[in-house]
Amino acid sequence: MIVRRTILIKLSKDKCDVDYILRLMALTNLAYRGYEIWAPDLPKTIQHQLYGSFKNFKGSLVFGAVPKRWFAKTWVPLNTLRVYPDVSVKGDRGAPIVLDFRSNVIKLHQVCRNEPRYVVTIPMPKWVIDRVKEGGDIKFAMVGLKNNEPYLALTAERVVEPYQPSDYILAVDINSWSHGIAWGLIKNGNIIKWKSETPNLREIDNLYNLSVELSREYGKLKRLGLDKTVEGKRLWRKIKRLRRKLYAKLRDYSQKLVHRLVKKALRHRALVIIDDMIEESRRELLEMKLPSGLRKLYLMYTRRFVKLLVTQLEWYGVPYRFKRLPSTVCPICGHELTQVESRVMICENCGFKAPRDKVPMYWAIKVAQNLNFRQGFLAYERRGYI
Ligand SMILES: [Zn+2]
Repeated sequence: MIVRRTILIKLSKDKCDVDYILRLMALTNLAYRGYEIWAPDLPKTIQHQLYGSFKNFKGSLVFGAVPKRWFAKTWVPLNTLRVYPDVSVKGDRGAPIVLDFRSNVIKLHQVCRNEPRYVVTIPMPKWVIDRVKEGGDIKFAMVGLKNNEPYLALTAERVVEPYQPSDYILAVDINSWSHGIAWGLIKNGNIIKWKSETPNLREIDNLYNLSVELSREYGKLKRLGLDKTVEGKRLWRKIKRLRRKLYAKLRDYSQKLVHRLVKKALRHRALVIIDDMIEESRRELLEMKLPSGLRKLYLMYTRRFVKLLVTQLEWYGVPYRFKRLPSTVCPICGHELTQVESRVMICENCGFKAPRDKVPMYWAIKVAQNLNFRQGFLAYERRGYI
């Protein structure tokens, strides 16, 4: 199985001409539609990337999905040349992106500005070195704009086969962010450990509320035509800083949690069972009457968390399955559970009782038994007993 991971690296606007990248992106959009247009004033080497080797890219681009609209901004795919410490070389010698692992730099040839022999050199991110150590290779790169800022995207690729799981299971129940993510480690049908993890919600709420408050003030200034004054500009910078901090906190939290979960799964060679009921999370958030902006933010980061988790599980060859792990249905008798105080669920039919976030772990045991049964059955079938 080929697995991929991507990193985005911000490029300096001083060194990178945004208009030039915009033109390259427009040409890429056309290339996706099968049009070959050679702009006479653009470097041939770069345009060659679009028409010469484009077919190789098409199937392997991570977020280079076919653009939905005409003139939608499409990232520009580029070949790479990799030079390793033992001076072995991989890739295309004429590639505009050179990853030099001898001096740990990346060189971008004519990617940032339409000038002959224009080169931008950036330090090699630790991320790249780590992925290469894990057996990955950076075959592809892309440049493009995100919020009008130039970025370089590097995609690491690796061939990996998922391992044969041990008797451990790691169940991950993804609730809305407000109730966090519950995980449980299960061995032979016993819940060894379980935990419900939540980010520091008060801090996030505070940052959000403050940014909304300041945005309102800024709106007032704007209506009065005072948004370009020193005071207005200062306020705008403050809002942007707050938002950046808020996003960074959420991102950081999910990255760290994903990292911990993946390490846990690897340590026990566990099978990972994930329940990502985004719809249920959305409903739960609606019930909590959160401001809609914050609700959207939580949902967005919940989705990103799932994506990040799956990408990393695949990268390390951890087998995983998506299964429903309900927290409101009794795992013993299937009766609906009733929630009593402090998020405890009870079954009025059979007497089952557990904290709400622990119920999914019982379901995971059940799911795993079914999976095992099926696998045993298949093995039996293969041996010709049935
Ligand atoms: Zn029951």
